[in-house]
Amino acid sequence: MSVNQQAHTGPPYGQPQPGYQGYQQPAYGGQSLPGVPQSQYGAYNGPMPGYQQPVPPQGYFPSLGFPSKGSPVSLNSDTSSLAPNFIGSLRAPPTSGAPPPASGASHPSGHLAYSQFEHGDVQNGIPASAAPMQRPPASQPFLPGSAPTPVSQISTFQQYGPPPASVQQLRNHMAGMTIGSTAASAPPPAGLGYGVGPSSYPPTTGAPRPPAMPGPPLPGQTVAGPPPSSQPNHVSSPPPPSSMAGLHPGPPMSGLHGPPPPTHPPQPGYQMQQNGSFGQMRGPQPNYGGAYPGAPNYGSPPGPPPPPKRLDPDSIPSPQLNELPPQQKPRHRIDPDAIPSPIQVIEDDRNNRGSEPFVTGVRGQVPPLVTTNFLVKDQGNASPRYIRCTSYNIPCTSDMAKQSQVPLAAVIKPLATLPPEETLPYLVDHGESGPVRCNRCKAYMCPFMQFIEGGRRFQCCFCSCVTEVPPHYFQHLDHTGKRVDFYDRPELSLGSYEFLATVDYCKNNKFPSPPAFIFMIDVSYNAVKSGLVRLICEELKSLLDYLPREGNMEESAIRVGFVTYNKVLHFYNVKSSLAQPQMMVVSDVADMFVPLLDGFLVNVNESRTVIASLLDQIPEMFADTRETETVFAPVIQAGLEALKAAECAGKLFIFHTSLPIAEAPGKLKNRDDRKLINTDKEKTLFQPQTSFYNNLAKDCVAQGCCVDLFLFPNQYLDVATLGVVPYQTGGSIYKYAYFQLETDQYRFLNDLRRDVQKEVGFDAVMRVRTSTGIRATDFFGAFYMSNTTDVEMAGLDCDKTITVEFKHDDKLSEDSGALLQCALLYTSCAGQRRLRIHNLSLNCCTQLADLYRNCETDTLINYLAKYAYRGVLSSPVKTVRDALINQCAQILACYRKNCASPSSAGQLILPECMKLLPVYLNCVLKSDVLQPGPEVTTDDRAYIRQLVTSMDVAETNVFFYPRLLPLTKADVDSDSLPAAIRNSEERLSKGDIYLLENGLNVFVWVGVSVQQGLIQNLFGVSSFSQISNALSTLPVMENPFSKKVRSIVDMIQGQRSRYMKLIIVKQEDKLEMLFKHFLVEDKSLSGGASYVDFLCHMHKEIRQLLS
Ligand SMILES: [Zn+2]
Repeated sequence: MSVNQQAHTGPPYGQPQPGYQGYQQPAYGGQSLPGVPQSQYGAYNGPMPGYQQPVPPQGYFPSLGFPSKGSPVSLNSDTSSLAPNFIGSLRAPPTSGAPPPASGASHPSGHLAYSQFEHGDVQNGIPASAAPMQRPPASQPFLPGSAPTPVSQISTFQQYGPPPASVQQLRNHMAGMTIGSTAASAPPPAGLGYGVGPSSYPPTTGAPRPPAMPGPPLPGQTVAGPPPSSQPNHVSSPPPPSSMAGLHPGPPMSGLHGPPPPTHPPQPGYQMQQNGSFGQMRGPQPNYGGAYPGAPNYGSPPGPPPPPKRLDPDSIPSPQLNELPPQQKPRHRIDPDAIPSPIQVIEDDRNNRGSEPFVTGVRGQVPPLVTTNFLVKDQGNASPRYIRCTSYNIPCTSDMAKQSQVPLAAVIKPLATLPPEETLPYLVDHGESGPVRCNRCKAYMCPFMQFIEGGRRFQCCFCSCVTEVPPHYFQHLDHTGKRVDFYDRPELSLGSYEFLATVDYCKNNKFPSPPAFIFMIDVSYNAVKSGLVRLICEELKSLLDYLPREGNMEESAIRVGFVTYNKVLHFYNVKSSLAQPQMMVVSDVADMFVPLLDGFLVNVNESRTVIASLLDQIPEMFADTRETETVFAPVIQAGLEALKAAECAGKLFIFHTSLPIAEAPGKLKNRDDRKLINTDKEKTLFQPQTSFYNNLAKDCVAQGCCVDLFLFPNQYLDVATLGVVPYQTGGSIYKYAYFQLETDQYRFLNDLRRDVQKEVGFDAVMRVRTSTGIRATDFFGAFYMSNTTDVEMAGLDCDKTITVEFKHDDKLSEDSGALLQCALLYTSCAGQRRLRIHNLSLNCCTQLADLYRNCETDTLINYLAKYAYRGVLSSPVKTVRDALINQCAQILACYRKNCASPSSAGQLILPECMKLLPVYLNCVLKSDVLQPGPEVTTDDRAYIRQLVTSMDVAETNVFFYPRLLPLTKADVDSDSLPAAIRNSEERLSKGDIYLLENGLNVFVWVGVSVQQGLIQNLFGVSSFSQISNALSTLPVMENPFSKKVRSIVDMIQGQRSRYMKLIIVKQEDKLEMLFKHFLVEDKSLSGGASYVDFLCHMHKEIRQLLS
């Protein structure tokens, strides 16, 4: 039903398309909107309400919280006989249509399965753990009360190991292009080959610590004032709204605070920087003042094109990293204002590029920085929200690329969320014939394909092969050689679009079923005692009504299931026909199976009453548990088996509290050992302690089983190992150390809501095709790879990013440039199989200067950080750090040698586009993964390592160089943010209050001399000393300053994919040490160099390379 077969009836895309989110699109060529110019691109302009995400964006954007349900489910109606602590009554009587919950002995003939469960298959209430279930023979149907399942079906449930043949078929569709199929450098599926080590983590009792208490002393810790929790980058405890402070949060979390607003709230932007530009605010120093006589260009005002930055090293001492005694001052102190300022660069870009939309029609355009708020108009290349590159001008030859050492990489976020003003990719339906592709390389039809012979054939822009145009796709060419339907077809005129996939693109040549979400809750002692179990159950009651849904669908197609576990697993039958949920316990965790098929995965609306009843009862059932041990791998296996049985993809939401030490597959031991830091064995801390989870991840990927893991540790739980499956299935990990209901529930609930609701695709396979001459050689992110070209993700959400590196295998030409085509095959949340295509055209150059003029340092840092963070799995951290420094020195030396105008050999000259490379590189080098301070735990490092690997460019930017805002400079009458300042202690005034955020934490720093009135207004106390740093939220005060600050915090929270923990820091308080960790231009306690020192060091390295 390709609507595009119609004749050209008007300007393209002019008609609102209510159908995008559904899949029935009326037409691309509709009538033009009034007021929309009739130019060829006119239809892209102006308001297009029809293309915007439907309001309210029910499926995805948790902007408004959760309105309470109109009709709370009455649990009393059918619970007359219900004992409060039990699920149903033993042998609950069948209700209409429900299978008789089999008494162990008597089964109707043909229901052999039940005889396997004699010892308590249908368990009611808690004691069932004493009744181990045996795995029935594979041929035994498990379906109670219904026809036995055919043997063959069941047997497939047991299947482990290699993906079914259908997966291969699938790949064949994605494959076909040979440029990527070299044997060279098959990227290891992130994290292979792992070792073990003992642990030195201090034993911790299960009791959570009081909020203000310092973290547990770590062996060898010499830090003066311990931080509140031992993880600077991701500390626990968000603001609990006062109304939720209790242990029993009211059922609808609704009215409280909604999750963060949509993804791209207006960002007024930093105002003009007061003190960040070179040479300002330091007294008169027009060009470095006297300190840098040889640096005439450095202080020149920003203007096109700024000359290279120069420092005269003859007057700059070049201290070795880490060698300076803390207080030693260089002979000639370098003025920090005289070295490149991130704030200034951000500000300049915002001023120069923030006002105009970024139109993607031109090849090789460098987009505005990620810190600039701009709109994108797709005119043939993918938006930078989907793809960013380290350089938009690629060297023509590999020699040139090697000479420059500039990595060629693209950071791809295939399902990125767009601001409401921008148009979602159109869905193109070519009917049964499917998308038109190149015969040889299988590239998809795109704007760069060249139609020839009157339109009867087209030449591939990637491999030059000529392919016949299928009859249904034929169209005449106009006098310029362009198809006359060019603007009617997204795939001919846009950089990003989707194709509806045919059955050929589906596993087993069968259209997929809608996915399922399975919630798997740890009900061991710690989880119950902290109130976590109750919190999760309460939240799910309302959250289940906000599952992702497609377009205009009335309700989500996603089915849900529930499991609880400690040492054993409890499955729940929540079939709508049951009066009460039924529990089935599997205590044989060695060989996990799912004891029920029918009634495990259900539609939320149909089973509403039973689910509500279950969620009410779970906290009660386990209220008195003494069980402290947990299993972990069997939990994932159970979810995987359930999805296999249901023949669908899906996501597991696992809420887990402790190291899984109970006897079971995947059992772990505590092998944490901080003594390994800075040794050759440090890498083992990042490696899983067993390969078991790698194999499990592989099985999960084959089934499309994505795992999201919420961790609530009170001590070491081996994130490096537990994270393997989430990581390789495209899932997410969230960590709330020392979880306390009061301070952490708000942050956790916000994360959970967003995680459950966000846009996600399943069973995804991504392939990046390139012009002949370069090919994708390496991949970084949360995924699995079974060959060298296809990135497989059981799940892929709107926040996940894949960084792809390219290498030359031939020459490129300046004329034709270089093309990238990213094709993502995935199953939508409604079960629709789709292909999302992103195309990007880059320039190619024979002059190095062109390369350096078109680089993007933020993207470069994204790549370098991911490259380094993977490196720590196999190399000593010092080796990784040295390699990073060396590569960047080579990049800058190559520029100095080949591109800079002749000048004193002693000058440091940085390319304009890379003048922030040293400062940002230093931030990567001193990050917790590469240079941990004493307060950073092994789990923190593993956690951060995995988080960064999936980050997009905006996230790595703020993570490595946090945003620091003087709150007391905020204009309470305006919507804008105060101008950001540089991350250095000397920028802080003791009379001001500042906010610092890095995407994981928000700090509010209060100077000792802040006016009492401000303190009163913001904190509601009368003096500095009365401010409690145990606050996890700012009190709600009715005054303009309080409102302004809270709105800034809310706005920033809304811009990040995770809810950030808020920490109040008082100047000179012991918590300040934690805060200073993020002042990244300063020397760090862990030995990281200051920006000035590092710049000198880099200069020395560059000079050595040049001499
Ligand atoms: Zn081709």
